Amino acid sequence: NLGDGSEEQVSGAAVLAQALKAQDVQYMFGIVGIPVTEIAVAAQQLGIRYVGMRNEQAACYAASAVGYLTGRPGVCLVVSGPGLVHALGGMANANMNCWPLIVIGGSSERGQETMGAFQEFPQVEACRLYSKFSVRPSSIEAIPSVIEKAVRSSIYGRPGACYIDIPADFVNLQVNVNSIKYVECCMPPPVSMAETSAVQMAASVIRNAKQPLLIIGKGAAYAHAEEGIRKLVEQCKLPFLPTPMGKGVLPDNHPNCVAAARSRALQFADVIVLFGARLNWILHFGLPPRYQPDVKFIQIDICAEELGNNVRPAVTLLGDINAVTKQLLEQFDKAPWQYPPGSKWWNTLREKMKSNEAASKELASKKSLPMNYYTVFYHVQEQLPKDCMVVSEGANTMDIGRTVLQNYLPRHRLDAGTFGTMGVGLGFAIAAAIVAKDRNPGQRVICVEGDSAFGFSGMEVETICRYNLPIVLLVVNNNGIYQGFDTDSWKEMLKFGDATAMAPPMCLLPNAHYEQVMTAFGGNGYFVQTPGELQESLRKSLADRTKPSLINIMIEPQSMRKAQDFHWLTRSNM
Ligand code: ADP
Ligand code: MG
Repeated sequence: NLGDGSEEQVSGAAVLAQALKAQDVQYMFGIVGIPVTEIAVAAQQLGIRYVGMRNEQAACYAASAVGYLTGRPGVCLVVSGPGLVHALGGMANANMNCWPLIVIGGSSERGQETMGAFQEFPQVEACRLYSKFSVRPSSIEAIPSVIEKAVRSSIYGRPGACYIDIPADFVNLQVNVNSIKYVECCMPPPVSMAETSAVQMAASVIRNAKQPLLIIGKGAAYAHAEEGIRKLVEQCKLPFLPTPMGKGVLPDNHPNCVAAARSRALQFADVIVLFGARLNWILHFGLPPRYQPDVKFIQIDICAEELGNNVRPAVTLLGDINAVTKQLLEQFDKAPWQYPPGSKWWNTLREKMKSNEAASKELASKKSLPMNYYTVFYHVQEQLPKDCMVVSEGANTMDIGRTVLQNYLPRHRLDAGTFGTMGVGLGFAIAAAIVAKDRNPGQRVICVEGDSAFGFSGMEVETICRYNLPIVLLVVNNNGIYQGFDTDSWKEMLKFGDATAMAPPMCLLPNAHYEQVMTAFGGNGYFVQTPGELQESLRKSLADRTKPSLINIMIEPQSMRKAQDFHWLTRSNM
């Protein structure tokens, strides 16, 4: 040893942690065990925040939410075999949502392939379907460049999930410190702009629209395009409609927001501009009868392959939404134009909004017990802080909740998303609360769960209590999936046989005291049956900034949404 450190050794785990740090990775969620415990410890020592979760799926949801909220990928760290398999749900969800994410999986030792090694599984292959990039570094020396490529791939182009496989024997293998070259942090994604002629054409199509509509998707939220889109909306006086997670890019109470007339707006618009929203099931594929057969779509997206999916667009604007919106604004600055506020289209939309809002207010004002969804959400909305993060999942809970719970700020809503994934709520809420702690102290996270949705990741309440994250969990409890039985019907049913033979597949145990999951770990739990109890417990929960709370809200087990114009709207996305 020459005393200059040239003989100094470093472990694979330490190299991996340092490589993540060099790429500005700040958050890691996971569950430790053989062979990744040392990786979590090394990451934590370097100041990467490590959050230990109770199920890999929830850990992966949490890491992906960090990516969406911060624009830099979070890491999900899992053990080999089953650990990695459990994380696939989170990877799929992130990739479908176009959110950046890095999954790091320990894997069985090199040299034991096909021998039936401990938790042996073809992990790199398995992850390929769920990711943009899936690879095992060929050596410890290769780790820094592979990490850089994974982080870069997760945020460049259409964002998505990346997988890195770390064989067990890498973790504790020692290599000479001088053999490792760390790679400089990758540059932020380069900003691409649309072709000028296409921008001019788009502006002209908008100018000639009789019944225009802007649709704001979560791509616009991710792109931080709020300022430009607001200018465009206000300058040109255009109606806009947010998608579920596009909510808040412009505030829901903006006078140009036509969310309350969603079906009408989609059905009769003649020109629709898509700001980072795909024409998938959420937007009914852009096809009749939900749209006019000759509606002109102007598609703005960063992913060229997306352009032209399901419909032939009138204009495609390939580029970053923020940059492209500015390009459009330039056109309207050069030759100012406004959509006439007194038009028939605006009147139609406003009328429909009024009648829809009146219908849900009427349901909300019903005094009968158990409460219905609308009553619950109206009371919740009254108390929610304007800057709170709203996490939501469930079937009716999410769909009806979305129409009543308002978002005023971009990237303040997380839900089941493109993949319609149930079980995301607690992981998302934990991620949001941790990010808020660092970047927006004092911000509250409200997690509105159906009773079924809560069950998927219910044990993460322990994680919430362990880290003392003051999340307010609302479980809107109808004793089932879509609907359930009341206690009497359940008892009646048991007269004919036991539950394994008789219970309808949708039913969950009636009157379950989910609030006790929270009190079991020291948080506040409330069981509420009336509007008054709901108001009181929510007031107390929001006032307590030192502890998490769970409010178990009993509602009418057969409570459904209000009548819809389209009979096939009874499920999912209105
Ligand atoms: P929503 O569910 O809100 O309709 P989607 O997830 O379907 O939204 O669509 C989001 C779209 O935004 C994706 O097609 C994605 O490629 C695109 N996107 C993501 N980031 C950007 C960006 N910076 N600029 C342009 N498009 C983007
Ligand atoms: Mg339910």
